[in-house]
Amino acid sequence: MPHTDPDVLVVGAGVIGLTTATCLAEAGLRVRVAAAEPPEQTTSFVAGAIWGPHLVGMDDRVARWGKTTLQQLTEFATPAHPRPTAAGAPKGMVHIASGVAAKRAAAAPTPELATDGSGLTQCPPDEIPDGYRTAWRLSAPLVAMPEYLDYLRERYGRAGGELSFVPKFATLHEASRLSPRTRVLVNCTGYGARDLVPDTDVTPVRGQAVVATNPGITEFFVGTNDADPRDLTYLFPHGDTVLLGGTEERGNASREPDPATAARILAACSAIRPELREARVLGHRVGLRPARRFVRLEAEQADEADGVTIVHNYGHGGAGVTLSWGCAQDVTELALAALR
Ligand SMILES: Cc1cc2nc3c(=O)[nH]c(=O)nc-3n(C[C@H](O)[C@H](O)[C@H](O)COP(=O)(O)OP(=O)(O)OC[C@H]3O[C@@H](n4cnc5c(N)ncnc54)[C@H](O)[C@@H]3O)c2cc1C
Repeated sequence: MPHTDPDVLVVGAGVIGLTTATCLAEAGLRVRVAAAEPPEQTTSFVAGAIWGPHLVGMDDRVARWGKTTLQQLTEFATPAHPRPTAAGAPKGMVHIASGVAAKRAAAAPTPELATDGSGLTQCPPDEIPDGYRTAWRLSAPLVAMPEYLDYLRERYGRAGGELSFVPKFATLHEASRLSPRTRVLVNCTGYGARDLVPDTDVTPVRGQAVVATNPGITEFFVGTNDADPRDLTYLFPHGDTVLLGGTEERGNASREPDPATAARILAACSAIRPELREARVLGHRVGLRPARRFVRLEAEQADEADGVTIVHNYGHGGAGVTLSWGCAQDVTELALAALR
């Protein structure tokens, strides 16, 4: 066997796999990422992506993971990255965006995006969009996923990490055979964990979004309905483009964009910002949020015979970006402990 087998094999090149691999490589470990799809074909690429622990099992680790990631994303946002564009919106990998979170119900709980530092204020009645009964103004880190995944990939490479694309593994044992001397395998396969582990607790929650030219929108909008999660409207400005959504279809694993859904998204977003009626559609994106009762982040001594420790890191639902750095740090500690 080649003596070049890495210390750790990470399966998956979405935001969870790349962030975890970066932390591991920066801790001085030799790391290889193997993934069936490159970052630009993952669910991570599709995300909005705003910080907020949405659609994720709220156990007592989530607040810590979210806080660590919030600090990291806030650092990315200041001061070098954001820069003005022709459309007037700040463009950059991460920027602190201000905007409105609205709910259909009166007296609804405060939005998931709110933190101590987000400057939450309740909107007066004349600023609440039609069809909503409560709204808040606040700010939160907004991540441009195509640029952000490029950044992670590049930072991981600078730390000495390797990345390879492989046919989909049928089992974790098959994955571990890729580098037989590697003692730690980190499973960052998102919805893929459903078949790979296998873990039937992982459920797809399909999200469809539309990318359009930005007619000059600088503020985000997120409209939710606590009584019906499928009733979701959002728009996130990313410089010259704006990402419009969305859907939350539990149990639907189709990755094909649906034209009727896209038309509904455009109509709902145009009702919030009428200037979007003039926007040109640039593309359609679909991703499968890997929902699970709780995120699975733990070490498992899977195979006594070959002594491989498997560290699972999947099931982040609608909050993979939000929790990514906190989870990556915990995985790094587990991997270092397993290698000691
Ligand atoms: C429309 C939409 C909007 C969202 N908005 C937000 C948001 O605003 N904020 C936020 O925090 N989160 C958001 N999310 C959720 C977030 O995108 C996910 O939680 C996150 O992308 C999960 O990342 P991941 O790396 O675990 O999975 P993925 O991005 O799906 O990556 C999985 C990787 O594993 C590989 N893989 C899987 N199975 C195998 C196998 N058997 N063999 C080899 N490789 C395999 C894949 O090829 C891929 O490289 C959103 C999601 C959607 C769909």
